[in-house]
Amino acid sequence: MKDERENIRPRSSRRRFLKNSALAGGGVLLGAGGLNVVSPWIWREPLPLDQNRSYWARSQPRQNPPLIQDLTVDVAVLGGGLTGLSAAYFIRRVSSQKSVAVLEARGCGNGASGRNGAMVLNMTADRYMNFSAAPQMDKQIYDLTAANTRFLAQLSDATGIDCELDTKGALQVLSSSQDTTAARDYVRQARSLGMPVEFWDARQTAGAIGTEVYEGGFFDPNAGQVHPMKLVHVFKAAAASAGAAIYENTQVVSIEEGRQLVLHTQGGHTIRAKSLVLASNAFTANLGFFRNSVVPLREYVAMTRPFSEQELAELGWRLRVPFNDTRTEVYYLGLTRDGRIHIGGGTPRYNFNNGPGSAEVATTHTAQLLRELARIFPRLAGIEFDVHWDGVVDWSMDASPSVGYTGKYRNIFYGLGYSGHGVNLTSIFGRIIADLEAGREDLWKHYPFVNANLYYVPNEPFRWLSAAAGLAWYKLTEPGA
Ligand SMILES: Cc1cc2nc3c(=O)[nH]c(=O)nc-3n(C[C@H](O)[C@H](O)[C@H](O)COP(=O)(O)OP(=O)(O)OC[C@H]3O[C@@H](n4cnc5c(N)ncnc54)[C@H](O)[C@@H]3O)c2cc1C
Repeated sequence: MKDERENIRPRSSRRRFLKNSALAGGGVLLGAGGLNVVSPWIWREPLPLDQNRSYWARSQPRQNPPLIQDLTVDVAVLGGGLTGLSAAYFIRRVSSQKSVAVLEARGCGNGASGRNGAMVLNMTADRYMNFSAAPQMDKQIYDLTAANTRFLAQLSDATGIDCELDTKGALQVLSSSQDTTAARDYVRQARSLGMPVEFWDARQTAGAIGTEVYEGGFFDPNAGQVHPMKLVHVFKAAAASAGAAIYENTQVVSIEEGRQLVLHTQGGHTIRAKSLVLASNAFTANLGFFRNSVVPLREYVAMTRPFSEQELAELGWRLRVPFNDTRTEVYYLGLTRDGRIHIGGGTPRYNFNNGPGSAEVATTHTAQLLRELARIFPRLAGIEFDVHWDGVVDWSMDASPSVGYTGKYRNIFYGLGYSGHGVNLTSIFGRIIADLEAGREDLWKHYPFVNANLYYVPNEPFRWLSAAAGLAWYKLTEPGA
């Protein structure tokens, strides 16, 4: 499984940055292994659970009451994002006799699920527009993810919550001639395998999104966009109506492992459970799990005022599909139903010791987003953003995700390492977690992400040094950077 992942060519986008970060960091590590070992006692790397200030958060579902007593359940789910809520929903569907409780530190969708760039993408981040050594498996993963976008639409209908899901497709715009050649080759092979993706030349791309800055596009008709927080609503409602109890403002502060797990909350209550789902994403290391598996990268997103139909027509973004580019410092853009443009990405940021974002840094990043927006759409030069926010992405070193179980008693289930590609994938992992928890591993074990080992992420200060070295290397080498 690992061998196959290693054969995926790191051709474009941020996975190169992180992989080279690993290499750069690896050299330093050799001479400083001792410090790396004692580092967790010096730098605890606590990732703060800050408040979600995104535009999407304005639609946060009404919060459920916190846990105010001790609880015994079959399955405790830690985290009320898309992984946790979908896992709770599927566990109740697969094992209707089991009691399930979701414990969310703030409000559901307070993490990445309610702050993201709204793109509903197929594949996993490491295989996105990138064949591995096992193309038939790539095709299977494409089919699995494309089917899940249809499932999202069905679930939205079933709950009666319109999550503004739009599956007209999504475009990856090509930033260099090297990327254009690679995209053409990729599409040729993908179509021969039956994937309905398309290569668009510069003219067709400009005709669809109204900008001439790109050399072409890779179009996936099975992708799309969504209102992220309304998608959280959908899963929260589905999990609740399937019978899961959901407690918000209930932060778990420690976990005792055993055949029976014991979770302690900040409010002083205990939850005893036979199984635990760690759905805390980039925050998982705070509880002592997966500390060396993902890098919590902070990303910035900003959004304009609503534009009128006439203004949008003049802009020429006719197809209204979201798009992201092929650079390591990827930018992603979308249009909301009420005509607002959002743009996210740019320079990824890792704060030493998992430090919080600051207003000063946010200003710099927002200015970068504004410059990029004006470069893409010169007509928008001089506009201001209505709202901007940040969020933390759980990056694995090679952008590959993992879903599986861990712990001496194999009763701790997890899904993480989405690497900026989780809006669609999270609920597939929620489904897999439910089957693994029910002992139905055979259904999924042939997929490379099931119980996949993630590359080692060093402790501080090497983590910070690796990120800085990787970013510098990228700036020197990426075409057009
Ligand atoms: C800025 C940004 C842009 C992105 N853009 C895209 C995109 O366009 N397309 C795409 O596919 N993906 C994108 N992603 C990635 C995607 O949003 C994530 O992969 C996905 O939302 C992860 O969901 P999750 O449920 O695993 O994690 P989260 O949504 O982060 O949920 C984790 C939850 O756990 C809770 N929690 C943490 N610690 C505790 C504790 N101790 N006790 C109780 N609860 C706790 C948190 O409050 C949080 O609600 C983006 C991410 C970011 C940050």
